Amino acid sequence: MTDCLFCRMLNKEIPADVVYEDDDVLAFNDINPQAPVHVLIIPRIHIATLNDLQAKHAEVMGKLLLAAKEVAKQKGLSEGGYRTVINCNADAGQMVFHIHLHLLGGRQMDWPPG
Ligand code: AMP
Ligand code: ZN
Repeated sequence: MTDCLFCRMLNKEIPADVVYEDDDVLAFNDINPQAPVHVLIIPRIHIATLNDLQAKHAEVMGKLLLAAKEVAKQKGLSEGGYRTVINCNADAGQMVFHIHLHLLGGRQMDWPPG
């Protein structure tokens, strides 16, 4: 989608600080990090929100989680731990409507989240 920020990053129209990529996903540092490690992992296909997921997206959503595991390992977070988050719509604070997994780590996380 031409008016989607993350699609434009996938198309290299907007720079991304890439930490991992494969045929299905792209992972890059969040521009406004909320933890020492804050990486966003996105599918190469445009899906707006969790509400828009269909059965055909099951594999690519699994790939997001596999990429999270890889990035966590790369960042040295696997043993100590980390958090993954997908915000959906306004009450969760979703700002970019191209589905993305936040990978947060490098500090103690609070629960419940704010
Ligand atoms: P969400 O609130 O779940 O939609 O998360 C959107 C995230 O995208 C926020 O954490 C923003 O800091 C991040 N973000 C917005 N623009 C950029 C950008 N150009 N590069 C990297 N991260 C961005
Ligand atoms: Zn998009």
